[in-house]
Amino acid sequence: MRVIAKKVRCPVCSNKRLFDLVSATQAELIIKCPKCRNLIYLYFQNNQIKAKAV
Ligand SMILES: [Zn+2]
Repeated sequence: MRVIAKKVRCPVCSNKRLFDLVSATQAELIIKCPKCRNLIYLYFQNNQIKAKAV
């Protein structure tokens, strides 16, 4: 499995480091932004990341 690191920025606030993806070919998860406390839905597929507020 390849290891890929990417920074994901929060789509709601100015937090540019919401999450660091370590590795994923396909995954989805929901995390809470520590800055604005919104729930952010993250979807990874083939090194593409989509982030949106839930
Ligand atoms: Zn945020």
